[in-house]
Amino acid sequence: MSATPILQLRDTRVAYGAIEAVKGISLALAPGELVSLIGANGAGKTTTLNAIAGTLNTSGGEILYDGKSIDKLPAHKRLRQGLALVPEGRGIFTRLTVEENLRMGAYCRRDQDAVDADMERIFSMLPRVKERLQQVAGTLSGGEQQMVAIGRALLSRPRLLLLDEPSMGLAPLVVEKIFEVIRSVAADGVTILLVEQNANLALEFSSRAYVMESGCITLSGSGADLLADPKVRAAYLGE
Ligand code: ATP
Repeated sequence: MSATPILQLRDTRVAYGAIEAVKGISLALAPGELVSLIGANGAGKTTTLNAIAGTLNTSGGEILYDGKSIDKLPAHKRLRQGLALVPEGRGIFTRLTVEENLRMGAYCRRDQDAVDADMERIFSMLPRVKERLQQVAGTLSGGEQQMVAIGRALLSRPRLLLLDEPSMGLAPLVVEKIFEVIRSVAADGVTILLVEQNANLALEFSSRAYVMESGCITLSGSGADLLADPKVRAAYLGE
């Protein structure tokens, strides 16, 4: 990797009390890459994303963002520096309207005109969200909630977007739509780290991927190479 990675994990560890869920992983993302992290339930993928976002503390190793250590930086400061997480389960404020949820994403911005312009851009990408602006978010379908969660993250103007299981619980056609949106966000130059249970989809979609097992990274490579790897096919693609 020639450019300074936008994100680098060096021997990163995360523990819940005595249980180490992430056991010293290393990975790097170049600016503009779309990389996925796949693995079985309980492998430590969500824990890894939360450690990068700062909602969980690490117990060892280092996390570098733009070449600087962010281990001591609280989550809201990471967000301000362009590091946004769309959490597993979406984290929608169910009693607030769609518009209020979206504006939460911009809470630390002072450039109101630019926020309004970004809202318009998000509406052009997510017309369904625009139609439902005044609806209480808890009454949206799962796919619509996922779109609101992505729109809210985009309103913080991220440079690195962490997506945790965006396809979870959604029908195939809705998943396709969500992935179209992710593709256009990536085309805008946002670096993306995607955690996905749907390994087939993730590998087809990403330029590179890491495979995580029991808290360790066991394989990495291009999406195409991993799709062709017999171990990956046996363990994650149901063959
Ligand atoms: P999934 O797709 O099921 O969410 P995952 O790969 O994202 O799986 P994690 O959710 O990161 O895995 O969980 C990794 C390990 O850490 C699991 O063994 C899990 O039981 C454990 N774990 C996760 N959250 C906690 C917690 N709050 N307290 C204790 N252990 C936890």
